[in-house]
Amino acid sequence: MLPADYHTHTPLCRHATGEPIELAAQAVRVGLRELGFSDHNPMRQDGFDDWRMRASELDAYVASVERARREYPELSVKLALEVDFLPGYEDWVRDLAQRHPWDYLIGSVHYVSTTWALDNPLQLAEWKTRNALEVWSAYFDRLTMAAESKLFDIIGHADLCKKFCFYPTQDCTPLFARFLEAARRNDVAIELNTAGLRKECKEIYPSPAIVNLAAQSGVAITFGSDAHAPGEVGLNFSDAVQLARGAGYTHWAKFTKRRREAVEL
Ligand code: ZN
Ligand code: ZN
Ligand code: FE
Ligand code: FE
Repeated sequence: MLPADYHTHTPLCRHATGEPIELAAQAVRVGLRELGFSDHNPMRQDGFDDWRMRASELDAYVASVERARREYPELSVKLALEVDFLPGYEDWVRDLAQRHPWDYLIGSVHYVSTTWALDNPLQLAEWKTRNALEVWSAYFDRLTMAAESKLFDIIGHADLCKKFCFYPTQDCTPLFARFLEAARRNDVAIELNTAGLRKECKEIYPSPAIVNLAAQSGVAITFGSDAHAPGEVGLNFSDAVQLARGAGYTHWAKFTKRRREAVEL
């Protein structure tokens, strides 16, 4: 049986297609038993960037997920958010966390500074002015802070910094190990995110090296397609399951109202 797909988006984020009911239909079609919606969180200021719902749209988001839940009773539908972690925004995340009965919150680092989202194709030029190791260090510093923040259940795409293939020549194992140690200490899961296979890096996030280290450290895992269209739901999950099994994983983490339970893989 396939694990749940816990990372999917809706049109409210302005760069995805397919209403939750359409993603749910696809989930049933590909044989998933559980599907979680984790659209990009709103910010307190709507003008923060242009790839997320406005704060006033949060209730409509929740209603659209509830509709999918009603229309596909054979599917377990989970309500969640992918929340950007930026230092200084913790109170806003706590505020969001209280607004709806979330099943889990995914903490993701896209911003390595207040203005640069390192995965944004429109900001790709920024990479060429930076040193790859410095960016990766800043990225994993924030990821470690996110794991320690007590705000999140899952850390999203834990090596998103590889997306455009700006790899440091140095060995980054110490950065990975420090992050995973924080995840383990704080009981935060990481996700195996298959969207990486559809990007320039052509590799699941995070890399086999990180997944192996995570398994050795005892960090729990979830699975996510990061679908931005119905056809991407559950995509390449057999590859992700194979990666997890190869690292020694026998279970995935299921979340209900922010409580975790282990389910056999
Ligand atoms: Zn997105
Ligand atoms: Zn992300
Ligand atoms: Fe996402
Ligand atoms: Fe994302």
